[in-house]
Amino acid sequence: MAQRPCDGTASRDGTASRGGVAPRGQAGPQAMIDRARGESEREDSRYARERERMVEEIAARGVTDPRVLAALRRVPRHRFVQEALRDRAYGDHPLPIGEEQTISQPYIVGLMSSLLELTGQEKVLEIGTGSGYQTAVLAELARRVCSIERLPRLAERARATLEGLGYDNVWVRVGNGTLGWPDQGPFDRIIVTAGGPAVPPPLVQQLADGGRMALPVGSADNQVLTIVENVGGEIRQRTHGECKFVKLVGKYAWDA
Ligand code: SAH
Repeated sequence: MAQRPCDGTASRDGTASRGGVAPRGQAGPQAMIDRARGESEREDSRYARERERMVEEIAARGVTDPRVLAALRRVPRHRFVQEALRDRAYGDHPLPIGEEQTISQPYIVGLMSSLLELTGQEKVLEIGTGSGYQTAVLAELARRVCSIERLPRLAERARATLEGLGYDNVWVRVGNGTLGWPDQGPFDRIIVTAGGPAVPPPLVQQLADGGRMALPVGSADNQVLTIVENVGGEIRQRTHGECKFVKLVGKYAWDA
């Protein structure tokens, strides 16, 4: 699949502009459109309340970076899960997104985003686009996000969701992310949202001087959140608590 930027032109909330003349009665296409709009506005404000509660929980668990909390307040997480699961989108748990993969738990998204210490200037590489939710949070916090997903159907759906929300600083590509994205590197930040047995060497090579990477490393069932930094060419590594991600698959990772 060709790599291309997400250059969607839809408005950020995905609503269409209003056209035509208001009807006199309650019947007719305009009345239906108005009713649908009323319902979607009620739904949006309910999701906004749930999102606020989610952000408060994440903050209470120790994620304090105000930029990260503001990004989590802005990104409509329910748009990244299938309709039947939308009512559960703001609970602090992962949810299935098809293809045996999951959208990460909101707290982990907040934690990993804050560990990256983003200022808005960075070029970020993300491995494991999945639903595209973490991608959107990163797009709010960094200059540009290059995201790689191994499963074409998930990549396609994430791209459509991100375009629909108007993100124009995100590129999504299908491939094995453990090889990185050499044409676009080096990267100021790298985030891997699937768990592998070790830090993939190509990702270390594509980490800019002064750069930082966050990734889960460990067994298939349990990993440790690991931070890798490039300090003047010296690679430093430290850990930051346990976590549990789906498997990172491919060369330098697990067999499918
Ligand atoms: N951040 C995503 C998490 C998705 S789960 C979200 O919140 O939605 C992890 C994703 O990593 C899955 O979609 C899986 O297909 C993908 N993945 C696993 N190994 C990969 C690899 N080597 N390269 C790219 N993507 C990979």
